[in-house]
Amino acid sequence: MREFDGGCHCGNVTLRFETAKAPADFSVRACGCSFCRRHQTRTVADPAGTLHIVARDPRRLSRYRFGLKTTDFLVCRACGVYLGAVYRDADGAWGLINTPVLAARAEFDQPATSTDHDAETEAARRARRKSTWTPASFDPPSLLD
Ligand SMILES: [Zn+2]
Repeated sequence: MREFDGGCHCGNVTLRFETAKAPADFSVRACGCSFCRRHQTRTVADPAGTLHIVARDPRRLSRYRFGLKTTDFLVCRACGVYLGAVYRDADGAWGLINTPVLAARAEFDQPATSTDHDAETEAARRARRKSTWTPASFDPPSLLD
């Protein structure tokens, strides 16, 4: 396993992504949704890895929701950086990492694959996130409650 540390610009939110996959082996995604196009996101996830998200001041972490409202898009309120997204349900939490927030962002420099999930049903979207995103935990544990 290798650890990839990252965070927002002001330091309020940090994250650690652990994965056994090499950066070059990831399919970096450029999601085509209306939020991600505006941020030009470049995201990765590993269902066999882990993601830990820490917020020093949880009140300064925005959990933006739109569309089907199944997912929290995490944006630091203080510095405006988009860190990634988290889907949660009774079974757990799964996250997606926006690679530009990682210190090792340059290792994920492969061309991004465009994705478009706009036509997906809500059930299909929930199932996809649980099977393809990264199991996530939080500090404080109640961060997204
Ligand atoms: Zn910040």
